Order: sequence, then C-alpha cells, then structure tokens
Amino acid sequence: MPVRYLPDHLVNQIAAGEVIERPSAAVKELVENSIDAGASRIEIDLREGGKTMISIRDNGCGMNKDDLLSALDRHATSKLPLDDLLDIRYLGFRGEALPSIASVSRMKISTKDSNSTEAWEVTAEDGQKSEPRPSTQSDGTTIEIRDLFYSTPARLKFLKTTNAEYAAVKDCIYRLSLTRPDIAFRLTHNGSPVFHYPVLSDQSDQQFEQRLKDVMGAEFLANSLPIDAQRNGMRLYGRISLPTYNVGTGQEQYLFVNGRAVKDKFMLGAVRAAYRDVLARDRYPVAALFLDLSPEDVDVNVHPAKAEVRYRDNASVRGLIVSSITHALHQAKPQGNSTLGTQTIASFKTHYHTPSYPSSYAAPGFSSYGNLAEKVDNFYQPSMEIQPSARAEIIEDIREENAYPLGSARAQIHENYIIAQTENGIVLVDQHAAHERLVYEDFKSQLQERGIEKQGLLTPEIITLSDSDIGYLLDESENLARLGLEIESFGIGAVAVRSIPAMLSGRIDIQSLLRDILSELKEKESSRLLEEKINTLLSTMACHGSVRSGRRLNTAEMNALLRRMEETPLSGQCNHGRPTFITLSLKDIEKLFSRR
Ligand code: ADP
Ligand code: MG
Repeated sequence: MPVRYLPDHLVNQIAAGEVIERPSAAVKELVENSIDAGASRIEIDLREGGKTMISIRDNGCGMNKDDLLSALDRHATSKLPLDDLLDIRYLGFRGEALPSIASVSRMKISTKDSNSTEAWEVTAEDGQKSEPRPSTQSDGTTIEIRDLFYSTPARLKFLKTTNAEYAAVKDCIYRLSLTRPDIAFRLTHNGSPVFHYPVLSDQSDQQFEQRLKDVMGAEFLANSLPIDAQRNGMRLYGRISLPTYNVGTGQEQYLFVNGRAVKDKFMLGAVRAAYRDVLARDRYPVAALFLDLSPEDVDVNVHPAKAEVRYRDNASVRGLIVSSITHALHQAKPQGNSTLGTQTIASFKTHYHTPSYPSSYAAPGFSSYGNLAEKVDNFYQPSMEIQPSARAEIIEDIREENAYPLGSARAQIHENYIIAQTENGIVLVDQHAAHERLVYEDFKSQLQERGIEKQGLLTPEIITLSDSDIGYLLDESENLARLGLEIESFGIGAVAVRSIPAMLSGRIDIQSLLRDILSELKEKESSRLLEEKINTLLSTMACHGSVRSGRRLNTAEMNALLRRMEETPLSGQCNHGRPTFITLSLKDIEKLFSRR
C-alpha cells in the first residue's frame, strides 16, 4: 500500500479528537483565544450545555482579513513569534484549536481588527471555509459554533447529558475567570443569564478578592485561610478552606500553574497530603491555589489539552505546597465554621414559623421586646441575694473570659455540649470531639519531641485474645512500643500489657483499647505508610483517652478545655474533619428571634 499524506481535513478531525473532546474543551480554547487577544470583556452563550451552540464574544484585538483566513489553517498561530517553545507567553501556541473545532462543527467567525475600520466574517463547514464577507461586528471577535461533532457521529455518542456538559463548561469558565480577575465574564445558558463577573476595581488584589467571592462564594471566603509562600524561586498563593469546610469531591480544588488552570494529579496529591491529618479520606478541601515558577522549571506542553504539567523538581514543589498549607492550618486561630451556624439557623427556621402578628395584637405594656425582656428579667430575679459589689466582680470575670476567642463556659447540656459566651455570640463545643483532638495533638508533639511517655503497670494486664488477633498485635509490637504501649506474648491465647501511654493512665479500659487498635490494624492493613499507621493508632488512643460524652464537667473544667483548644493547633476539627465547635453570632441569634 502506498504511503500517503492524510488530507488536512482528516488530520484536523484526529486532532479534534484529542484537543476538543467535549463542549467545555471548545469553550476553553475559544476563551483562551479571547484572553490572548487582550479582551477585557468575554461573553459566553450556550445552548444545551454547548452541544448545539457555543458563542464567544470578546472585545479583543480582532483579526484582519488575511489573518482571519489563515487562523483556520492548521498550525497557523500569531503567538510564537520567536519560535521558542520555552518562551510561552500566551495560553495558545499550537495553532490547532480553530481548525480542529471547524473540522467537526459549523463555525462562523466575525471579527474586526482594532487597527482597521473593516470587519469581516467567514463560515466553515465540513472543514471548508467560505470566502470572507464584510461583517457588522463593531469590535473584537465573535466565534459561533453550532452542532459540535455533527460530522463525527461516533464522538457525538460519547457526549454526556446536557446537564453534565453544562456543568463541565461552567467549571471551565470558573477556572479561567479565576486566572483573570481583570477580565469581565458573562455566561448565558439557553437564553437565561447565569452569571456576570464584573471588574469593579483597578487594584489587582481587590480584583482577585472580588473574583474569588464571585466564583467561590462569600461562604468560602469566610471559611478559608490565605496562603502566600515563597521558596526556591517559586510562589504559592491563594486560599484554602478550613478543614471543617469540606466537600465530597475534589472538584472544587481550583489549581493553577503559571496562570493556567490545571488538573494536576501531583498538585492535588500534595494538597491532600497537607490535609491528611484533619480530614477524613472521603472528604476534600475547597481551594484556589496559584503556583508560579520559572517557565524553565515546568513543562506545560505534555498534554494536548494542557491540563497536566511536569515539574523539573517535584520534591520542592510538593514541599512548598505541603508545608505552606500545613503551616496555615496550624497558624489558624481556632475558628468555628460560620456556615454551620448559618445552617443551624436554617434548620431552626424550618421548625418554627415566625408568626406575623397583626400590629393590633400588641397589648399595652407588651408593645415592644424591650418591655418583654424587662418583665422576664424581673420574673427570673436570682433567688440568692448577691451583694452589688460581688455581682460586679462576677460580671467582670465573665467579661474577661468572654474576650477569649472561645469565650466563657456558661453551661453544659446533655453531658456533652458546652455552651460558651463570646463577646459577640455563642460557641457550642462538642466536648468529646474537642478533647480527643487535644489528646491527639499532645500525643503527636510528645512523639516528635521526646517520644511518648509510658507508664509501666505494676502488675501487667493479661488480655485474652484469639491467636490471629495476637499475631496482628505482636507484628506491630515495635510500633506500639514507640507509642508507649508495650505488649508481649503471654502463653497461648493471651498477651501481657506491660505499659501504657502515661497520658492514658488511669483513664482507660485496656481491653477495649486493644480491641479498637486491632480493628484499626485490620482495616488499614499493609500498604500504609508507617507514619500514617502511627497517626491512626494515636488517634485511636486519643479517642480512648478523652472525656467521654456523658461526663459532667464543672465550669472550671470547661473553661480549661476552651483555653487549651485556643492554644492547640488544628483544634477546630476532630481527626476526621468534623468540627469540634460551631459558632452562632449574636446577630444570627437576633435574627432567629426576628429582632433584625
Ligand atoms: P493558537 O491559539 O494556538 O494560536 P488557534 O487555532 O486557537 O491557535 O488560533 C489561531 C489564531 O487565530 C491565533 O493565533 C490568533 O491569531 C487568531 N485568533 C483566534 N481567536 C482569536 C480571537 N478571539 N481574537 C483575535 N485573534 C484570534
Ligand atoms: Mg488558541
């Protein structure tokens, strides 16, 4: 068979298979072109998730008649003027997108070169482009694509539902718009406006803040921490969520390398590692993180859709990500998840309708809340006589404690929840979860600094177990000994426990601790890093060593717990990312009572 060159049209369709696998990929290429064209406003219009129509309009530099024609040719690009693949300043540079998309859709481009008074348009169908015709385009470029993949039915079949394609397009625009807070974006779907992200400031940090809020929501902003770290000529910045503000997928981790949105497994893995200690395995943080490094240290050219990257020095990229996130999480003042507070309010509201009394209802003397409050106050006069001076002192004490971030403990309810009063609201603490975290952090720092202190048992505790369980325990006996738990074989069907961690002394039932450790060991068998295994064991021990729910605490004990939480890094969540406390602001409480 003779060797022959494939016709251009076929080459383009093959490339389209790689670069444009679905509508969102076409949107990405076209929006990137608009960004490269210097647009300050980009409007995206979709029908059926982009399956039947995508239109992108920008106010960028536009094209003249000649460029318009060559833009549709393969490998025609205006963006690699120095022919240097190491010096890539534009988002595009392969000159593949337009011809590829044109080969599998019906395309129309209308454009006006900003240096000219003329505007032109061409259409392309089945890879055939029309002659340029004069157009009414007033500025920039509009590219309209209809019936993506109509000419390649095999590919058309692989498109997902309209909703799924639409979601992918939106996600892609979120990412792009985060990279360029200086460009206004607007999205319309099936004729209805979806969002409009304006540019309201000319300061770049304010633009960034505004865009984060527009894209990721005010709640994310309120429940996240800033990151900004530099090392070895690299910079990582952006925001990461508090561990308690977590989601069920990794979808909301927006990552960027040198201003390009990436879905880089390596970076995702590093973020995951940084949260390992504070999030359950099936929960994910929300993040917008930007990694900037010298173009020589990163290759963005490995994947046609440019979603993956390669670094020259993996270890230092990972180090920067893990250490700066870990640092931020440790530095964070214990901060309750305010969203949970808001949710609380919402749930209160679903149970109680706020009655709207007719104004005539107000009886004399009951006309205002103020009055009502006074009456209640009089009714509940403390029965015990307190001298005015002593009373002032008590109030002073309370005020002082209020000034602490977690406030002063005022009550314990259901033997597990501490209610504390802060300067501007209340804090509700899950005493077991909180204490568990404290014990765990204590264990970890002991382990790091001097090894875990053990407490020898005067008479070793003999525990009977099945042979296989004993096998498991003895296999780990070295690790367990590092954690203060010394175990040795004691004849058939029993082990002797010679020491336990000093922190647990007098507080635990050794038998049930061993059983829990066993089930952890079995569940998380093998293939786990030693460090991870140790942390799991520590966290099991912490659970045993912490105040159970059900134990009554007095005010001093409760306050002591609160003060220790304030000092302990990462105390805002238990070892699985569940919050240890939530806050409710006075404002929110007032809202509940319709005072606001
Ligand atoms: P690349 O972006 O890799 O150069 P494309 O096929 O995406 O390749 O685009 C080809 C060329 O068409 C670009 O280099 C640019 O000159 C021109 N072009 C595409 N879209 C626009 C636009 N929205 N505004 C101005 N010029 C554009
Ligand atoms: Mg391009």
